[in-house]
Amino acid sequence: MSNAKVLNKEISTWIDEYPSLQEIIDLKESIWINPLHTNFDKGMENVSLSEADVLDAEARLNRFAPYIAKVFPETQSENGIIESPIAKIDNMKATLEEICGKELVGNLLLKCDSHLKVSGSIKARGGIYEVLKHAEDLALANNIISLEDNYAKLDSDEVRKFFSQYSVVVGSTGNLGLSIGIMSAKLGFKVTVHMSADARQWKKDLLRSRGVEVIEYESDYSKAVEEGRKQAEADANSYFVDDENSKNLFLGYSVAAKRLNKQLKDMNVKVDDNHPLFVYLPCGVGGGPGGVAFGLKLLYKDNVHFFFAEPTHSPCMLIGCMTGEHDKVSVQDFGIDNITAADGLAVGRASGFVGKTLEKLMSGCYSVTDENMYRLLTKMADSENIFLEPSALAGVPGIINILTSEEGKKYLKANNLEDKIENITHIAWATGGSMVPKDMMDEYYNKGVSLLK
Ligand SMILES: *Cc1c(COP(=O)(O)O)cnc(C)c1O
Repeated sequence: MSNAKVLNKEISTWIDEYPSLQEIIDLKESIWINPLHTNFDKGMENVSLSEADVLDAEARLNRFAPYIAKVFPETQSENGIIESPIAKIDNMKATLEEICGKELVGNLLLKCDSHLKVSGSIKARGGIYEVLKHAEDLALANNIISLEDNYAKLDSDEVRKFFSQYSVVVGSTGNLGLSIGIMSAKLGFKVTVHMSADARQWKKDLLRSRGVEVIEYESDYSKAVEEGRKQAEADANSYFVDDENSKNLFLGYSVAAKRLNKQLKDMNVKVDDNHPLFVYLPCGVGGGPGGVAFGLKLLYKDNVHFFFAEPTHSPCMLIGCMTGEHDKVSVQDFGIDNITAADGLAVGRASGFVGKTLEKLMSGCYSVTDENMYRLLTKMADSENIFLEPSALAGVPGIINILTSEEGKKYLKANNLEDKIENITHIAWATGGSMVPKDMMDEYYNKGVSLLK
């Protein structure tokens, strides 16, 4: 292994340049603070997306709200706006204090994207948005609707027949497939989901029950994406959802920020110069956490600090950003196997688009072992009665990492936050879980129980 080359450089040379690569390769938990992190104005200099793009996405979701409320009756109570609750998790905070043996000052919240309606994960933001955007583009171009219409009229046999001439294709480890598949099938599209070997059986079964074609692969996520792309390229009426590069996905996620701002206001949680916000986001390819973080940066600028959380077996964003090579390197290049129980996070190569967009805005990344995700899953269930899938726990140790590690303390000092520590609100972004079948969830929970012994 130590003689293998990555981008024409010995791994040992990489480690000389980036010493913490050694612990990452050894699958130890690691915290990386981004040395390129800078203020908002400088950080945005080379970013092509702007607030106008986020507002455009928000307006589109609002146009579709009457349709969503009609075809997914469970969203009627929120008028067709698919948004998740936020919870103050003081009991879990006390549990985390027990775990690390230190007092954790500040405010800890959990953003429950696990409980987003329709597809039960953060992918209900970007995935559904991208399908709606494509549907709207087609419907406008073919005079099926106009921007002023009530989009509830899209719920008709005639419109479904129109969309059935078109297909939507995606490669996925599971949750993106669920969102894209469920939404596309509802509109009437033909839809194919190319799934990697690690995708759960229940997700495949659920999709097939909704009329989605599921193609399975023996290998990992990158292969599923590649095959999906090939299929779509062969057919002019086919639309490929490109998880690694899609601006639409990214913008769909970014809409979360303003909605979160309203929730924080309603809870009397301040975010300003004296009340910083720290957000910890589980990261797979990067679009979900990246889009959410981008929206938050536009809104709170230098008062928000965000960190990406990854499994120790799939730290692709960590390695991509640390080396500055982004999608030119994979975890496998460094001998890391990309095998993790954290659905949605089993990604070996991060999105270059996301890594570069956030290059100077991201505060850092850290990694978490699968075992600790399971332990936290059980602790979250016991202390808060909130049931999450393993990946969704990756954000939870963020508060510990920032407040108690050397790297975290250095970050606070470098950003002049030492005298504001008690005013910080920490948000762990819980990215999935509510659709996990009961027997599967019991298995996760019991795994945590046995690891806690
Ligand atoms: C997809 C997913 C993520 C991460 O999103 P990316 O866009 O792949 O970075 C996090 N958690 C869960 C549960 C997911 O399904």
